[in-house]
Amino acid sequence: MDNIFSFADELGPLKIIHVHEPSIGLKGVLVVDNVAKGPSIGGVRMAPDVTTEECARLARAMTFKNAAAGLPHGGGKAVLVGDPKMPKAQKETLIRGFACALREVEQYIFAPDMGTDEECMAWVKDEIDRVVALPREVGGIPLDEIGATGWGLSHVVDEALKFCDFNIRDARIAVQGFGAVGKHVTRFLSEQGAIPVAVSDSMGTIYNPHGLDVKKLIAIKEAGKSVTAYPDGEKRDCEAIIDVECDIWIPAARPDVIHEDNVHRLNAKLVVEGANIPITYGAEKILQDKGVLCVPDFIANAGGVICAAMEYQGASQSAALATIEEKLRRNTLEVLHTANHDQILPRDASLAMARKRIDRAMSFRRWNLF
Ligand code: NAD
Repeated sequence: MDNIFSFADELGPLKIIHVHEPSIGLKGVLVVDNVAKGPSIGGVRMAPDVTTEECARLARAMTFKNAAAGLPHGGGKAVLVGDPKMPKAQKETLIRGFACALREVEQYIFAPDMGTDEECMAWVKDEIDRVVALPREVGGIPLDEIGATGWGLSHVVDEALKFCDFNIRDARIAVQGFGAVGKHVTRFLSEQGAIPVAVSDSMGTIYNPHGLDVKKLIAIKEAGKSVTAYPDGEKRDCEAIIDVECDIWIPAARPDVIHEDNVHRLNAKLVVEGANIPITYGAEKILQDKGVLCVPDFIANAGGVICAAMEYQGASQSAALATIEEKLRRNTLEVLHTANHDQILPRDASLAMARKRIDRAMSFRRWNLF
């Protein structure tokens, strides 16, 4: 008992549900963190080594992200033990089983995360109907295909530039990770006149101080190759993206890539976090002290979850994109103004903003959490 309540504080979690069905080898956990703002949304992560603790931390992150984005949703997360590359039939059995086991938990709406995708969500829809990020054929808005998160990031950059001494035209950008988030933000920013001087993926970095052609890079990735196959640039290792001299640096790959020991290598004026938790709190503090503006992840990369929440309400793709633009511009402006005025980190200003919204939503309820 002590162990499971070790995650509990005044915000949640409301409930932690262990799901176990030996006949199909199903082992999963659902954490519904806080539902004061509405039923929770958060992805299902599938990996062999997921834990209840990881699930609880991710669920809390979703509580803050959804509140900051002004969505009528709380935060939740689910983890499923297993290799996401297992045979498809076996994966389908597990996903369908997990959905059936959680059929009655109306405080949680299924969504994809690492190891699950829109096809998995279609199986969930077939079983229980309470799910977002579906394929287009069953009413979804394919958020990675349209680049919902990258679209949001490009508007965050535009607002953040009001606090910088340079413009988007000819601004040099470097993007770590050229996947669903990275390629689209590179595309949107270069359409506005920015010059991508370096991008990276898990195989390495490609660098050209005169600029890289985004369309060619996307075609190379679509052909299943690494960005290092781009012909007109200097190939460097994966880590080299950190040292690239640029105006805007965008992490869009892994967590914890910038920390106290390597933050001094960053050579940018503005950092906008596309990935989740790419920069440690200590490193963000060092950046602030050096005068580098850093917009935190759960403000900057909320485009995907806003798109998912809009899909759930039956909105169109164009309405979803317009809402992402409006919400992320407003939030960025608000947190950067507060951070400037109070001389605090943008992350602290963002957390305070989200917390205020959660507290107010909780104050309307008979019981705080359920
Ligand atoms: P993705 O799998 O489509 O792309 C990830 C990219 O990162 C790939 O190009 C991969 O090669 C690259 N990569 C992996 N390890 C790397 C390394 N060490 N150095 C450089 N590149 C590396 O994933 P995604 O959906 O684009 O997500 C990227 C990040 O953004 C993740 O942290 C994810 O949690 C976060 N995020 C995604 C969304 C979304 O809408 N997809 C929304 C919010 C946050």
